[in-house]
Amino acid sequence: MTDIIILGKGPAGISASLYTARANLKTTVIGRDGGALQKAGKIENYYGFPEPVAAEELLQNGIDQAKRLGVTILSEEVVGLGYNGNFIVQTKEAELEAGGVILATGSSRKTPSIPGLSEFEGKGVSYCAVCDAFFYRGKPVAVLGDGEYALHEAAELLPVASSVTLITNGKEPDAEIPSGLAVIKRGITAFEGESVLQSVRFADGSALSINGVFIAMGVAGSADLARKLGAQVNGTTIEVDENMRTNIPGLFAAGDCTGGTLQIAKAVYDGMKAGTAAIKYLRARQK
Ligand SMILES: Cc1cc2nc3c(=O)[nH]c(=O)nc-3n(C[C@H](O)[C@H](O)[C@H](O)COP(=O)(O)OP(=O)(O)OC[C@H]3O[C@@H](n4cnc5c(N)ncnc54)[C@H](O)[C@@H]3O)c2cc1C
Repeated sequence: MTDIIILGKGPAGISASLYTARANLKTTVIGRDGGALQKAGKIENYYGFPEPVAAEELLQNGIDQAKRLGVTILSEEVVGLGYNGNFIVQTKEAELEAGGVILATGSSRKTPSIPGLSEFEGKGVSYCAVCDAFFYRGKPVAVLGDGEYALHEAAELLPVASSVTLITNGKEPDAEIPSGLAVIKRGITAFEGESVLQSVRFADGSALSINGVFIAMGVAGSADLARKLGAQVNGTTIEVDENMRTNIPGLFAAGDCTGGTLQIAKAVYDGMKAGTAAIKYLRARQK
């Protein structure tokens, strides 16, 4: 059990951790890689650097700073988020528990552009197994994805649905497939149905009858994780108030995942706000 878990080790997550650690809260940051900054080259619009700074160096400096303050940093992928009185964060390797969570996992991945997908959202297309599995009890469903996150979503569905098929849409699975899970690697051309989703059509002309498809491409994005707890999202961004609080007590969000200007300065500012709001929340909870 830790006081607070921060998901994401980019500028927003690390900035939040500096505040929570210095407030003497046991802080764990979990991030799988360098996020958006990993794709950037030199940064010359961030405060305090007379010469352009390598994005990689900026990232590493933040991580070193957090570590010096006693923050635990884990390089893992988060696949699930739950609540049992405390927040439960699931990675491929472990399950961690905390009194509060800050989501700082960057801007969410894009939804694949497959004909019919957006048309059937809420009518067979879902983004959250733990939220919607119940609607598909005894019915055939599919999970669209190829990695650990897709397997996590499939595991949520297996006890409920009549069958679960993993569809990788042309990709080789990037995870070990458990026995009992059917896999189709063919590319998808369309999701089809009358008023609700009824089947998925593949490039070779074949079709699979399903009542639901759960989108779990790549890594769980911020909005995917937020949805698992019933937090309000708007498309791919998480809704927060001026103190970076979501509508779920103890759950905060910061940085690119909350939308607005996607810049380091804003992510760092958000992280500060979320960190200080989390300190306030956890202090009140400890009383
Ligand atoms: C090419 C490029 C150039 C840019 N140039 C500039 C610039 O010059 N100036 C500027 O101010 N901004 C720039 N930006 C924007 C800037 O990088 C972002 O605004 C900033 O990094 C956002 O910080 P963040 O912490 O919110 O998210 P990110 O930096 O994206 O960090 C997200 C973190 O969450 C982790 N994560 C995500 N999902 C999971 C999961 N399921 N499990 C575990 N961890 C997860 C990631 O691994 C990462 O650690 C640029 C961005 C890009 C892509």
